[in-house]
Order: sequence, then structure tokens, then C-alpha cells
Amino acid sequence: MPELPEVETVRASLARDMVGKKIKACAVTNGRAVRRHATAKDFREYVEGRSIKSITRLGKNIVFALDDGGKMVAHLGMSGQLLRSKGPKDPKPKHTHVVFTMNQGPELRFVDPRTFGELFVSRPLPEGVSPEVSKYARLSIGGDGMATRLAVPELAHLGLDPFEDAIVWDRLATIFRSRTTEMKALITDQDVLAGIGNIYADEILYNAGVLYSRPSESLSTIEIRRVHRAMTEILSEAIKHHGSTLDDEQFVDPDGKPGEYQKFHQVYNREGQPCGQCRAPIERVVSKQRSTFFCPKCQN
Ligand SMILES: [Zn+2]
Repeated sequence: MPELPEVETVRASLARDMVGKKIKACAVTNGRAVRRHATAKDFREYVEGRSIKSITRLGKNIVFALDDGGKMVAHLGMSGQLLRSKGPKDPKPKHTHVVFTMNQGPELRFVDPRTFGELFVSRPLPEGVSPEVSKYARLSIGGDGMATRLAVPELAHLGLDPFEDAIVWDRLATIFRSRTTEMKALITDQDVLAGIGNIYADEILYNAGVLYSRPSESLSTIEIRRVHRAMTEILSEAIKHHGSTLDDEQFVDPDGKPGEYQKFHQVYNREGQPCGQCRAPIERVVSKQRSTFFCPKCQN
């Protein structure tokens, strides 16, 4: 499933050539891709004729600001891709569910074999009405995340985004100390921290030397600071390398290019291989159909 670095890779790529363009036409061939709308026509009529003012991100969501104040949100789900056409004759990939024809340049296609991803248009709440914002997100000390939550009520529940919100370590400590949840479950809970999933949780916890199963309230100050630092470092590095593309998954950027960060994974998908720090074999446990990879010596 695409996580923050993969979604940011897609966002940054689209922001380079889609901002300022107008959606001339939109074709929806699978209504499930726009399932929050009563009909596909409803979605189509909102976006057609609209220009894209900016493209931002919150958690695993890409937010296209439209010129009438509406926001089109894309969530890639398990296997969603936003792809540019490679020319006027470029055939549509299998599982293309939505096609945006722009006033100039390539088409934008939403492709999603497993159909867990979605697109929807969010309209601002009436004047004077504010959405209920996540109590964790309110611990942010700055950044653009709050404006996005207020503008897109459907995203107001999202917890702190490691880049869109300014997170200081002692605010993170407040969250960890208020919960008894196991660390991996806590940092992958989108309502607590938005954007981290299975791969990056394992990499962050390895980097911080913290075991996935530790109750968050049991972390020492030093451990919390290490998790805080690891979160920023790992996610920044992963963005720099355009995310992770695994053998069995489909992540590619809008030009069809895979990510490179899988080459730098320290634990994820490395069961039985030696730990880079201590040479002990990396272990794997499976819980709720999700694998967790960790070093039994370096993580406590
Ligand atoms: Zn180790």
C-alpha cells in the first residue's frame, strides 16, 4: 500500500505540470472509484471545467484545490496509481477507472486493480461551521496540515502528518504516554499519525531501536526522541528515493517509474538476512495478516 513517501512522490510529480491546467473532460468507467458520490455523473460534473490551483498532501491523501474552492481528493488505497498518458495514442492500462482530459498536455488516469482507492470532491462546510479536528492533530505547533483539515472535512479526523504538521518531540511524548497501544499499531493509526503504514513503521522502529510490541506509554524520553527523529529521517530519505516499490506490489510514479528506497530497507522484507548493525538474522512475525520485520537484538 502506498504510504507517505510514495504519495508524496506522486504529488510532487503531478504538481510539476498539472497546476494551472483545466480539466476539459472527465470519464468514469468504474463508479466504485468515485463511490462517495451518488452517481459518477455527479463527480464528473463537479470537476469538468475546473482549473487546478494547487496540489497538496495530507497523510496518504492528495488534495487538488479547484478554482471554485472545491477540493478533489485522491486516495490510492492498496494499489491505486495516478498515471500520465505518454502521448495521444497511448493505450489505457487495464483497470483504468477514471480519465481526466486536460486543456493541454497528457491525460491523467486513475488506475486501480484492487479498487480500494478512490477520488471524491469535497465541498467546504457552510460559513461558520468547522469540522471536528483530530485531538492529536491539534498538538501540531504549525505547518499547513490544519488548513487542509479545515478545508476538507473528510480529512479532519487525520492525526499528525510528519511533514504537513510541525511535530515537536514533547508533544509526541504526550500522545505516547496517553496510550497503552503497541508502538506499531499506534504509529500506523491514521487518526494518530497520518501517512505511516506497514513498511515505514518497521523501518522507523528499527532505526529508533524500539520493538514493535512495546506499549507506547512504556517508552523512555530518550526512546521517544529517537522515534521522533527516526520518523523524519526515514520518511525524508524515502521521499528522496521516490518511495519503495516491492516485488509483489504496484507502486510507480505518474510516469510509470518505480521507487528506489526498497534498496535501503534495513528490516522490511529482509527476514533471515543479517541485521546491518549486529548481524543477527532479521525476524518476522505475522499479526492480522500484516508482517512485521525487526531485529531481535537491536530493538528492545
Ligand atoms: Zn541488530
